[in-house]
Formats: sequence, structure tokens, C-alpha cells
Amino acid sequence: MSTKLTPQVTATFDLDRSWRLDTRAAIRPEPFGAMLYHFGTRKLSFLKSPTLLEVLENLAAHPTARAACAAAGVTESELSNYGRALSTLASANMIIPAGPPRPRRTAEPVSPPAFRRTAGGDTGRAGCRPGTDRRLTNMFEAGLTSPICLTWELTYACNLACVHCLSSSGRRDPRELTIAEAKALIDTLQRMQVFYVNIGGGEPTVRPDFWDLVDYSTAHQVGVKFSTNGIKLDACAARRLAASDYIDVQISLDGATADVNDAVRGTGSYETAIRAMANLAAAGVRGFKVSVVMTRHNVSQLDAFKQLADDHGAQLRLTRLRPSGRGADVWPELHPTAGQQRELYDWLAAHGEQVLTGDSFFHLSPYGKPLPGLNMCGAGRVVCLIDPVGDVYACPFAIHETFLAGNVRQAGGFETVWRESRLFAGLRQPQAGGACRSCGSFDSCRGGCMAAKFFTGLPLDGPDPECVRGHGEAALAVVRHDGTARPPRPAADHSHRRVPVTIGRRPPQRACDENPLAGFVAD
Ligand code: SF4
Ligand code: SF4
Repeated sequence: MSTKLTPQVTATFDLDRSWRLDTRAAIRPEPFGAMLYHFGTRKLSFLKSPTLLEVLENLAAHPTARAACAAAGVTESELSNYGRALSTLASANMIIPAGPPRPRRTAEPVSPPAFRRTAGGDTGRAGCRPGTDRRLTNMFEAGLTSPICLTWELTYACNLACVHCLSSSGRRDPRELTIAEAKALIDTLQRMQVFYVNIGGGEPTVRPDFWDLVDYSTAHQVGVKFSTNGIKLDACAARRLAASDYIDVQISLDGATADVNDAVRGTGSYETAIRAMANLAAAGVRGFKVSVVMTRHNVSQLDAFKQLADDHGAQLRLTRLRPSGRGADVWPELHPTAGQQRELYDWLAAHGEQVLTGDSFFHLSPYGKPLPGLNMCGAGRVVCLIDPVGDVYACPFAIHETFLAGNVRQAGGFETVWRESRLFAGLRQPQAGGACRSCGSFDSCRGGCMAAKFFTGLPLDGPDPECVRGHGEAALAVVRHDGTARPPRPAADHSHRRVPVTIGRRPPQRACDENPLAGFVAD
């Protein structure tokens, strides 16, 4: 083959040296090509060409990337495209230099981890944006062979009692999965090549076998991100986290000041969270997440949240308040006003590349350009929830029998639920769009969040309750005036006790942790 490269490729990627897949990168085949996940950077990339996949699979077996491309049948005229794709993967640390002609830069083992399977010439970073990556979004909407990540609530037990807790947590449920059942589930996730689990609750760290399960999971190549209010995150736990690439943590904090936070999460919860953040920073944990549910009382604190995260070497993660769990009771009073939604959009448009949002704010995209993050509803397609008793729901914010796909204890376990559930098959069908179909913003907004519509009593094929064009408000007014159409109630309630909730700046007696959908990926 010719050694002549386009200047662009020469400047960004050296085809004439030896490369290999980083040992911390996992590849999973998908119908559209493959996905790569890096456990160290926690970034996701997509391969949309089987040929690139073949190049990657055989990269380490060839003396140069050029030779690997030639072996996969890449022609001279195609080489510049493949060079760019490999350059993208190199800048994401998915592939690293290996062997001659230059010495290896690190002492990492050459053999790949056992979980690496073969799975592309273009790549894409996670976080598909209609318009820029519509094709990928369409493929996601058809569902993946396995979730990219899933939320696993380990327990309903919680030391706190947030007014907006999506799982109405507080008391442990005696039917919660045993440690043996939990380990068997991890074995299944490893087999399915689920890249990581978002562990939440309740407060997951109060489960006595929490660290056993985290260790078991990472030893079985299923990365862990866990959400905590920080209660057990002492200096020792922080050092433990600092020692692992495979564990990520997010600290829940709903106010940049104690008064705003504690009004939602309970007296002392701000101090607990800040102490945990300080422990993580002191242990050298960089890039942990500070996870904020956006409410009417904290939109004005966006800059302060960012500063807090920056001061601790952390990354800010913003999540939408959904009317799920106890959140259903407080959503009308707590969800940001229309003016605040706009303020939030503008702030995200200015800071979005530095802030994680998962799939939280794609309903705001009609304000302008699509925001970074996953711009679609991933329920049952790319994400799902496993609750403490093993029930599998389409998404963490959809805990209701309508969205119950099965239970991990049933024959065939989680794998069968994910691949064969009729509910998930239905969610993976093209959306009709209903009343939103004629909206000029449908391509970017997709009608918004299914869970937000459901728990406010709105039709699933209608507008989001926070529709930026105001259609949600109008629809909610109809629900409010129609006494026969009461919004559905969440499936279960494990709250410590039932008390009426008053929202205000005065702290309530208790608060609990919250477990937003994470990272997706796009994290
Ligand atoms: S229902 Fe809402 S929260 Fe759940 S995956 Fe869809 S957009 Fe996300
Ligand atoms: S009408 Fe529907 S598609 Fe249009 S902005 Fe509102 S929720 Fe989004």
C-alpha cells in the first residue's frame, strides 16, 4: 500500500505505528456496528461500520494501523476516512500506541481483558443529536441488544426521605434480592456486556453487602456508578474509590446552599454531602459527579453549583425533576417555571459541554439548538430499571405496573425480560407522535418525557407537561378540571411514614436520596 496520506490524517493519526485497544475499553457488537466504552474516562463511542470494527479487532495483530486497515479490505481512497476514525478513537483513549516503532508509554498489560468482545468507518461520541446524528438516534429507538447502562436500585432503605424521591424510599422491603441473587444478576449483566450499572436506592451504601456487590461487579467487568447522599462516604471509602477505575460516584445535592438543599433533602443533608465531596477530593478522586435535581428553588444557583463542583474537582450533573414517586406530590410546586426552563436552557447552551444531563432536557431543545446529552427517550430501548425486589421497569422514573416488563427472578432472568418483553418490544416501535406530530419541533423534542406525561395524567402521545410551546400547561389544565382523570399513582411506597409535605425554604423533618437516570452515556 501506498504510504501517502492526506495532510489532515498525517497531522492527527500515525497510521505507520503499532496501535492496540486500551485494556480499559470494552467493545460490544450491535446491529449498527458496535459500541465502545472506556471504563477509565467513562466515555462511549460508536462504530457505525463493520469494517472499522474489523480493523479494531485486529489492530494489535498488525505491525501498523495501515496494515490492519489493508487486512480489513480498506482501499487507498478510503484510508483517510479510516485514519480520521482511528484518530477520533485515539483522542478518546480507546486505542493507544503499542510496541514498535516507539516504546509503549505505559506498563499496562498487553492481553485484553476477558470481557472484551469483538464488535465499525466512522465513529460517534455518545449523545446523539437529531440533525447531527439522526441516524444513530433512529437505531437507538429500535432498541439495543443490551442496555448501555441500567439503573439498579439495591434497596428501598434510606436514612433520609427527600420530598421528591422517585422511588418513594425509606424502609427496606423484606423481598429485596439476596446477595446470591444479586451476584447472579451481575453474572447475567456480564454475559450481556452491560457496560455499567447505576446503583441507587434508597441509599445503596446502607445495605451491608454494598461493597461486596460493588467488588463483585467490577471483578466481573460490569462498571459501577453509584448515587449516594454521602452518609457512608468517609475518608476510608473515598480512598477505596480513588483506587479503582471501574467505580464512579455521584453525590446528590439539590441546593448550592444548605437552606435550599435541606428544604428538599432534609436537615443536615447539605453538610453530609459537602463532607463526602471533601473526602473524595482529599483522596484524589477526580471527576466524580455532583448530581442536582433542578427545582424552582435552585435554578438561580446554577453558577454556584458549577463552582462547587469545580472546587472539588468534580463534574456537575443536572437532572430534570420528574413527577415520579414522592415527586408526584411535590412536582406542581417544585418544577421550574416556564421562565426558569428558558433560563436553564440558556445556561445549558452556554455550559452544556462541561455538564452532564443524560436524557433530562431534550424537551427544551425547541428553544434553539439541541443540547448535549441523549436527545430521546431511552426507556426500554437503551436503559431500564431493576428495582430492589427484582422488578424490571422501562425507566427509573416509570415505576408503575404500566411500565413493568418482568422480574429478574422469572425464568430466563433479566436477559429474557430485556429481549422478549412485550412492553419493551412496544416501546421500540416507531413513535406515532400523536398531537405532537404536527409540531415543527417534534424531531428534536420527540414529545418529551414519557414518565413526566404519565404521572401528570397526560396522554403518552401528547405534549410534555413542560412543553416549551405551552401545550403542556393547557393539557394539564384540562386534567385539573376533569375530576374523572386523576393522574396514576406510583406502584409502591416505602416511605418511613406518610405525612403531608409542605414545600418552602424551611427544612422539612426528613429528606431522602434520589436516583436519577445516569449518565447516560453521554456522561
Ligand atoms: S420516560 Fe422520561 S426519564 Fe424515562 S427514559 Fe424516557 S425521557 Fe428518560
Ligand atoms: S408540542 Fe410536543 S413536540 Fe412540540 S414542543 Fe411541545 S412537547 Fe415538544
